[in-house]
Amino acid sequence: MLSVTEIRGAFSHGLITKCLFPPHPAGHRRTERFHAGSSLAVPQGDLVIPAVNALMNQDFDVLVASRDWHPENHSSFTPYGGDWPIHCVSGTKGADFPPLLDQRRLTHIIHKGLDPACDSYSAFFDNDQRHSTGLDGLLRGLGIGHVTICGVALDFCVAATARDCSKLGFETVIKRAACRGISTDDTSCLNDLVAYGVQIDQT
Ligand SMILES: [Zn+2]
Repeated sequence: MLSVTEIRGAFSHGLITKCLFPPHPAGHRRTERFHAGSSLAVPQGDLVIPAVNALMNQDFDVLVASRDWHPENHSSFTPYGGDWPIHCVSGTKGADFPPLLDQRRLTHIIHKGLDPACDSYSAFFDNDQRHSTGLDGLLRGLGIGHVTICGVALDFCVAATARDCSKLGFETVIKRAACRGISTDDTSCLNDLVAYGVQIDQT
């Protein structure tokens, strides 16, 4: 997978580790948390951390991590009419990456969801597709043509990021084994992504 060796020299390669503190639907069972102290959870989401860490040790030129970085009155929070519990408030411990994530090789961090009025699942654009996070320009400026995406939640933030990434013209691969979704059945999610030109690496 990764196709790294196939086109090395032609394009540089980037890895986006996605949304490590993902939202989950209100009322979703929170039997397992992504990591201790997180107010949000993906079922067994912590199990992807070793796979993400292993992926980050592969031959990528750029390693980007994204995270929610919400104002405390963000419209996605249930007290303000949104669907998600309060999470990832900017500058607080809740917005930190999980401690088991190996951050040593990260080259860039994208903060998203800063606009109180609009959520941002994708690491590229807010959900209204009005405002860019700058990630598109960052990757182009660094000469990246091939992007591998992993993390949680597969069916929300990872999917939205992969769709935008492919639409923007990057060769886009999802590393399935380093992702975890909220839904237990990812078939329709993956089929949708394939329709957008995203490659799914099941390993
Ligand atoms: Zn959020």
